Amino acid sequence: GIPDEMAVPLPTTKSFPSVRYRNEETRKRVLITGGAGFVGSHLVDKLMLDGHEIIALDNYFTGRKKNIEHWIGHPNFEMVHHDVVNPYFVEVDQIYHLASPASPPHYMYNPVKTIKTNTLGTINMLGLAKRVKATVLLASTSEVYGDPEVHPQPETYWGHVNTIGPRACYDEGKRVAESLMVAYNKQENVKIRIARIFNTFGPRMHMNDGRVVSNFIIQVLQDKPITIYGNGTQTRSFQYVTDLVDGLIALMNSNYSLPVNIGNPEEHTIGEFATIIRDLVPGSTSEIVNQESQQDDPQQRRPDIRRAAEQIQWRPQVLMKDGLLKTIEYFRAEIDRNKRGGKP
Ligand code: NAD
Ligand code: UDP
Repeated sequence: GIPDEMAVPLPTTKSFPSVRYRNEETRKRVLITGGAGFVGSHLVDKLMLDGHEIIALDNYFTGRKKNIEHWIGHPNFEMVHHDVVNPYFVEVDQIYHLASPASPPHYMYNPVKTIKTNTLGTINMLGLAKRVKATVLLASTSEVYGDPEVHPQPETYWGHVNTIGPRACYDEGKRVAESLMVAYNKQENVKIRIARIFNTFGPRMHMNDGRVVSNFIIQVLQDKPITIYGNGTQTRSFQYVTDLVDGLIALMNSNYSLPVNIGNPEEHTIGEFATIIRDLVPGSTSEIVNQESQQDDPQQRRPDIRRAAEQIQWRPQVLMKDGLLKTIEYFRAEIDRNKRGGKP
């Protein structure tokens, strides 16, 4: 017989999740930049199931085809390998502009590129929106508040950002992106939506993302020490990815053009968070270790979400613990898959 590694797999008929039927009038053409990433791929899923036509654009810096491969070949779905730093033209009704590295190690890896992606990339998407009269939603961030001196953070707070610190490429990049959105709205009448996203977690986070949720879960699953940067008294508030996706869609389809916080106000210190995750994995023997604190690490963060409730009728629904259990299952399966050499 033919050795396994030489056998060519036969083409199979792929079966897709069943999507809602929509007629021309209600079906939208939607561009999602960063569509192969963590948040982008969940947004692709939700909008595909809802019967829209989706173009997922990505340069695969941190995104992976694997996150959206279940749609490849579906008539409503298209994947485009492109970098938003270069112009891109397509006829669409809505643009979710998510393309940008998001975790601190990824955005600090090439700070110049991070700034280019957030400035030139946003200009290109706004130029496209202007030309085809699409609505554009920017995935902004709670990082625009920097290390906040107001707690919790309402959208009216202007922030406290170090322009020359290691996080500046991302924070200032997103702040310029917001300013660009507002300028194109004022000057060119482009319809804009600005989502200030707070820390989000869930399945499909990158394994080597370096963010606290993926780090802690992987450490706990592998019985390795849990690494707390600094003394662990800094706080974050974590939302589950499906809540975020619901919020982004609600905001896009609203008429509201000022920034809106999308996050879950359930706030914990990073020290508490380490024990919460360890307790969710019975039998883990991970100990907690304190490492050097990170420069300019925001000391507290919690969204004031009254505006989202009033303007787009959105509130988070998923309890942090329920979301964490799903995420732990995802990483457990990923670790097993990696052990088998990446095979499913
Ligand atoms: P992610 O890294 O998984 O996704 C980002 C995607 O953008 C990746 O697929 C990446 O390959 C792509 N990308 C990066 N640069 C690009 C470029 N120049 N051209 C084309 N594609 C490019 O991160 P994520 O968590 O899914 O973040 C999505 C968006 O949400 C980002 O804009 C991020 O700033 C924002 N956000 C995320 C969080 C969070 O906690 N996850 C919080 C605040 C804001
Ligand atoms: N953090 C930590 N250990 C890790 C990774 C992160 O203690 O292994 C801390 C980090 O210093 C920060 C918080 O967890 O205070 C959240 O970090 P993350 O990178 O997830 O997101 P961000 O700082 O962008 O909110």
